[in-house]
Amino acid sequence: MAILIFTLMHFLYLYSFVKKLNTLTMKNASAILLFVFVFSGILAQKPPFYKNFTVSVYTRAYEVRDMADQKKLSETWELISQQVKVDKIYLETHRDQLIVDEKTLESAIRFFRSKGLKVAGGITYTIDESNNFETYCYSNPEHRKKVREIAEYTARHFDEFILDDFFFTSCKCDLCIKEKGDRSWTDFRLQLMTDAAHDLIINPAKAVNPKVKIIIKYPNWYEHFQGLGFNLETGPQIFDGIYSGTETRDAVNSDQHLQQYLSYLIVRYFNNIAPGRNGGGWVDSGGAYYLDRYAEQFWLTLFAKAPEITMFDYRQLQMSVRPGQRGQWQGNKTSFDFDEMMKPVITKDNTIFPPTLARAAGVTFEAVDSFLGLLGNPVGVKSYRPFHATGEDFLQNYLGMIGIPMDISPVFPTDGKMILLTESAKFDKELVQKIKQRLQDGKNVMITSGLLRALQGKGIEDIAELSYTDRKALVTDFKAGWFVNCKSSDEILIPQINYLTNDSWEEVSAIKGATGWPILHRAQYSKANLYVLTIPENFSDLYLYPAEVLNRIRTVVTQDFNIKLEGPSRVSLFLYDNGTFIVESFLPEPVTVRVVTDQKINAIDDLLTGESLKGTPLPVPPFRMRQVAQGNSFEVTIKPHSYRVFKTR
Ligand SMILES: [Zn+2]
Repeated sequence: MAILIFTLMHFLYLYSFVKKLNTLTMKNASAILLFVFVFSGILAQKPPFYKNFTVSVYTRAYEVRDMADQKKLSETWELISQQVKVDKIYLETHRDQLIVDEKTLESAIRFFRSKGLKVAGGITYTIDESNNFETYCYSNPEHRKKVREIAEYTARHFDEFILDDFFFTSCKCDLCIKEKGDRSWTDFRLQLMTDAAHDLIINPAKAVNPKVKIIIKYPNWYEHFQGLGFNLETGPQIFDGIYSGTETRDAVNSDQHLQQYLSYLIVRYFNNIAPGRNGGGWVDSGGAYYLDRYAEQFWLTLFAKAPEITMFDYRQLQMSVRPGQRGQWQGNKTSFDFDEMMKPVITKDNTIFPPTLARAAGVTFEAVDSFLGLLGNPVGVKSYRPFHATGEDFLQNYLGMIGIPMDISPVFPTDGKMILLTESAKFDKELVQKIKQRLQDGKNVMITSGLLRALQGKGIEDIAELSYTDRKALVTDFKAGWFVNCKSSDEILIPQINYLTNDSWEEVSAIKGATGWPILHRAQYSKANLYVLTIPENFSDLYLYPAEVLNRIRTVVTQDFNIKLEGPSRVSLFLYDNGTFIVESFLPEPVTVRVVTDQKINAIDDLLTGESLKGTPLPVPPFRMRQVAQGNSFEVTIKPHSYRVFKTR
């Protein structure tokens, strides 16, 4: 619509300009203007629409089936495409045993191609989604035959198709129990699904269509993949590409309880697993109790530099926006402006209609596309997750929520001054040796209390004699340095860690009554330090750590970077390698934080408003402490559920 208005204004402007010049006959002028108008019209309506990413819509088999009705197809497409510019569409051939017939599929493909869209296929391998996402059984010969036929059928119609979330198995039928034998479900299913990928999907599909590219889309629950047969070690090698599920929905009200930061971090993690072959991120409208949540997932995916974003799905995009989805913080020009988005949509034939969810996606893409190209490559504190590992589930995302820029790597990081290891790193049998090597190379390591527990008796005591005891403490008081005493807003249950006096030191302590325990602990070994970060029994209590505690943790853990955050939790920092960065708040009220930089950075520019902020030199502490760096600080206020984009000078 904006482009249409722009084109019209362009037309009127040119018309008056030509009239003024009076050098051309009106007939020639009209001919030129008609050309300009038609040409702009073509430019306006054909992809690519965005400078920095591709936008796709996924269509379930149910809606593709309904595309047999051409009139309805035209109407629904008109509704969506008036509100969000779409470059590509995925048309699903199968879901819940529904296979879209050939005639309907081909006419839908023709329809979208005629609109200039790239068209790809999709498959959801579910028997019945409504029955706990019932998957196929890959031990059952009849199911295997069906899976194979669906792949072949899809390859006949498309040169590219994607497998939605469900190419795993949860089947525990008697056939599977027998096949599994003495193996764990994880070992059995990892092998079963790797073989199924080769034998039932890739080889048969490529035999039918040698050109076909097959993409596996992984869902958001990476920590648990191995148990259901998603194999991050073999899958990215055998498929032509991978795709990231960045739908985090609502952390409290959805069973998965995924933190918002995952929408960003999973893209980074999958990029590290398959560099250059992670095709994009994927968001649905689930859990969008306030509509900012829907937009937030899109922009977090794009902050991670996903090359494509998929909107799930064709049906959801047509859903009305409910007035109840207007967040209580709206009306303040937040990053997602509900009232602006709700302005009625006026179509080419002057029909006026209220916006649907498609418009919420549309305004988000338009906003992010305006600055995304200015950002460099994302960087963060490296955390190591060996393949098929689990432990302190999804903890890196909670750490992202407390203002530590995170990155996850499938290999042990040997570079950088600091890495952060959570319990899942214990799956590497050589882990203690690798930690020792880093320390001897003069590079620090931070481990969580959960990893300390897992490594007890497995060699960690060779670095420092620390013990993760069975005792807990319920704390509200903290000491985050010399005379830095602070309180949390609520009680936090922490594990008690013991250490030997003068063998290692408390950097941050929790206090209760007349005693205390480490929150951040340091043990020197060879040329570097091993730090232990105490993780509360409830991970989300990390958000209750007072700002002073969080500041100290951030200073130690982000020592590879010259930009850090100071302030409360639930404000995230996204760093890029060209001096740009984003500060985003997930809080429902405005928040003021400090951005702390090294001395070389004197000013930061807000790339969205053009405002320039001058730095204040950091105060000299009352006592000369070790590791106090000189630098500048910048006070930054962030609106609720909003982000600001900066560049250092
Ligand atoms: Zn089975």
